[in-house]
Amino acid sequence: MQFSFEREFTYSRAYRGPIRLVVLDWAGTTMDFGCMAPAVVFCEVFAEEGVPISIEEARIPMGAHKKVHIGLITEIPSVRRRWVETKGSEPTEADVTRMFERFVPLQEACLSDYSTLIPGTLEVIAQCRQRGYKIGSTSGYLPGMLAINQADATKQGYTPDATFGAGDVPRGRPFGHMVLRNIVALDIPCVQSVVKIDDTLTGIEEGLNAGGWAIGLAISGNEVGLQYDEWMALPEATKQKHRDRIYPSMYQRGAHYVVDSIADLMPCFDDIEARLRRGEKP
Ligand SMILES: [Mg+2]
Repeated sequence: MQFSFEREFTYSRAYRGPIRLVVLDWAGTTMDFGCMAPAVVFCEVFAEEGVPISIEEARIPMGAHKKVHIGLITEIPSVRRRWVETKGSEPTEADVTRMFERFVPLQEACLSDYSTLIPGTLEVIAQCRQRGYKIGSTSGYLPGMLAINQADATKQGYTPDATFGAGDVPRGRPFGHMVLRNIVALDIPCVQSVVKIDDTLTGIEEGLNAGGWAIGLAISGNEVGLQYDEWMALPEATKQKHRDRIYPSMYQRGAHYVVDSIADLMPCFDDIEARLRRGEKP
């Protein structure tokens, strides 16, 4: 029998090192439990236009660049119908631009009202640092908004090693560009060693599109949309109903893991490191 090991086998290469970079989202992940700040302002901007929207409608495109987000709200059929009823014509690019220009100062004015760190953030960051992970971050916020968040976070003891927002890249989420900027800035050798953590579906896709691992946070952010005290006051059965709805949707979008909040991340990191040692890829 003729046989060639060189021709008839290929050999695959696998990264077997540790996690080197954790990339955290901002609102709904490390601060602003319930991701309230942007949702409130989207409602305000549409109300000023005479086309009020519900907070649920405001939350649907969460995670995107804020101007893209406003455009996506105008494409929600229920909103579009009410817009045409009120204004007599379809929303245009000029309408989106005008609302975005109104959005920016309103958002900057109220960000600090919602900038409390999410419980568990400082403890998890400390453990990550002990393990030698670098801490990157990304956000759908623009530079002026991020500067406010960064200053408020630093006051509370959280300062990531790098931060890139939707204004720093050609394309925001779900593109992986902001994660890739973190990888370059923090000198990370390969995408297999990178974990992205986010409270939105588009933020999960951002991590996957960059080639790394992705963890969804089901409870602390946009998907539930309640502040910490409101969430804690819910009956256990209601909390479970939220989990039963959100966990499958995040897994379906491709998340490797879904947990309630940042406080639950360490076991996921242990599992990812075990999988990397076995030669698994994201
Ligand atoms: Mg978020």
